[in-house]
Amino acid sequence: MSMLEISGLQASYGPSQALFGVDLSIGEGQVLALMGRNGMGKTTTIKAICGMVVPSKGSLSFAGEDLRRLKSHQIARLGIGLVPEGRRCFAPLTVEENLTAAARPGDWDFARVGQLFPRLAERRDQLASSLSGGEQQMLAIGRALMTNPRLLILDEATEGLAPVVRQEIWAAISRLKAETGMAILVVDKTLSELRQVADAAVILNKGENAWSGSMADLTPELTDRFLGV
Ligand code: ATP
Repeated sequence: MSMLEISGLQASYGPSQALFGVDLSIGEGQVLALMGRNGMGKTTTIKAICGMVVPSKGSLSFAGEDLRRLKSHQIARLGIGLVPEGRRCFAPLTVEENLTAAARPGDWDFARVGQLFPRLAERRDQLASSLSGGEQQMLAIGRALMTNPRLLILDEATEGLAPVVRQEIWAAISRLKAETGMAILVVDKTLSELRQVADAAVILNKGENAWSGSMADLTPELTDRFLGV
């Protein structure tokens, strides 16, 4: 059964319409890649899920709840954890303070995040502002995990990071998939890694679904057509 179900989603920024009809669904434990060239509506779709953009049309439900009736903090409490584009940690707080400030009851605590990302445990007393980009992304993922989500959303999971750090982030996502059964919605530009971790994909083009299906059915012809430069 679907955990997140979106149908016919439309949304605008003032007079400018960004989404014209987005459909997607994610089941328990499923990893879905949301793909598309720049500006095609991936971040806007994520913002609509998280209550940061008000949809003008369509339906969004999560675990049977109508997301359109809820505010961002209520959506987070339902079990949707967001790792936003650009990371956004609290710079003047330490690693540990960033993590504990986000904590909600459940299996994920500081120790467990530290097992997933040992670098965060090593740097627990360091200010977030002094971390490298990769460490800040680990911290942003850790913060989302501390809310004990049932669905983790990563917008631009590895953008701007060094190759070795990217690998660490992908390894962590694979571990989450294998060990927790958490549903994951991931946006990223590295197709090869998405192919390995995602079960299914939705491709957006100009604010609407261009293709959706199982990752195994995503042919080079489709990726050239919708993701190529
Ligand atoms: P990227 O990979 O570049 O982040 P994206 O697929 O996530 O792209 P969105 O950021 O959702 O795309 O943008 C979809 C459309 O909405 C684009 O035309 C973009 O210019 C527009 N848009 C995004 N944010 C705003 C905003 N705050 N105000 C006005 N228009 C916006």
